[in-house]
Amino acid sequence: MTAESFDRHNVEKILLKIEEKVKGKLPFGERVEEETRDPFLVLISVILSARTKDETTEVVCNKLFKKVKNPHDLLKIPKSKLEAILKPIGFYKQKAKYLKETAKKIIKEYNCKVPDSFEELTKLPGVGRKTANLVLSLSFGKNTICVDTHVHRISNRLGFVKTKTPFETEMELKKVLPEKWWSKINTILVLYGKSICTPIRPKCDECPVKKFCKYFKENK
Ligand code: SF4
Repeated sequence: MTAESFDRHNVEKILLKIEEKVKGKLPFGERVEEETRDPFLVLISVILSARTKDETTEVVCNKLFKKVKNPHDLLKIPKSKLEAILKPIGFYKQKAKYLKETAKKIIKEYNCKVPDSFEELTKLPGVGRKTANLVLSLSFGKNTICVDTHVHRISNRLGFVKTKTPFETEMELKKVLPEKWWSKINTILVLYGKSICTPIRPKCDECPVKKFCKYFKENK
């Protein structure tokens, strides 16, 4: 349900202030896109980044991308070697399995190209709604909203939405966010969620939007 007291006219004002605060930084997936313009490498980095810190994902991907440039390269790496490379990452055995299966499927069913639709992307092993929306936005320029834990938490704290799950948040954000913010909101709120509006003890004193924030008003 959309938060009743929320003034929609403030959405852009709030997002502009947060965007200014995180200016100059990029989450890892965005950097991979900027540096490679390669949907396959972006897909791998997004799958690996789930429940893992960007710093760890970056170290692992730098090592992996020296050996892997395309799905065929990934299939050639022995399972044990791939697991050894991915070991610093959370759920590395499961993710190694996902990467191999995803590479196989992309070769067999998509002519070696990452598909550019939500329906097809979510058929790939290890690719859920969040990963699909982020890859569509980063690599294919589609106007999607990727709701991860930061977007879900901060949207609720600010009062943009009043929801229990990331899926509900995605649906409600589509109603309150002007479309030009759909793709950008993930980048901005991920950076903000890691630096200021952290899951535990958010740094509200440093926050330029506290006067608009429902959580701040309720907890100050
Ligand atoms: S005031 Fe606090 S809770 Fe609200 S958005 Fe800012 S940091 Fe997050």
